Amino acid sequence: MENVKIVCPECSSVNSIKIVEGVSIACSQCEEYLDDPFPVEVTDASCKVHILENDIPILIDFYSTVCGPCMAMYDDYEDAALEFPLKVRFLKINADEHQKIAREYGVRALPTIIAFKKGEEVHRISRQLSRVELNLWAQSLI
Ligand SMILES: [Zn+2]
Repeated sequence: MENVKIVCPECSSVNSIKIVEGVSIACSQCEEYLDDPFPVEVTDASCKVHILENDIPILIDFYSTVCGPCMAMYDDYEDAALEFPLKVRFLKINADEHQKIAREYGVRALPTIIAFKKGEEVHRISRQLSRVELNLWAQSLI
């Protein structure tokens, strides 16, 4: 079986692991479990590492705390993420606090959710999505 690169959700270290169903592997640097599926709050600094270094697909939610639809999607995004440990990494970035990445990817409306595979954007949607829509989208990336 091939090794897969997984960026640690806690410390952003790049780990190269063999994925075995039902086995949790801890980060070699900080010991956080790499299969923790909870959405990772990223910054201008950590965002690129996740997008470029993860071998698994990425979804990233550009949000603002003053955007109604963004906040309305909060729980659905989290629920959807919990179903994809080590399959799809769910990220979120506060686009008010981290404007560099939002500018770089041309994000003009919030929420915008962008899917990446191996560092390449594959699709984006700029509206609130339901848990089912998020689930189907994540499923389609695998
Ligand atoms: Zn770590």
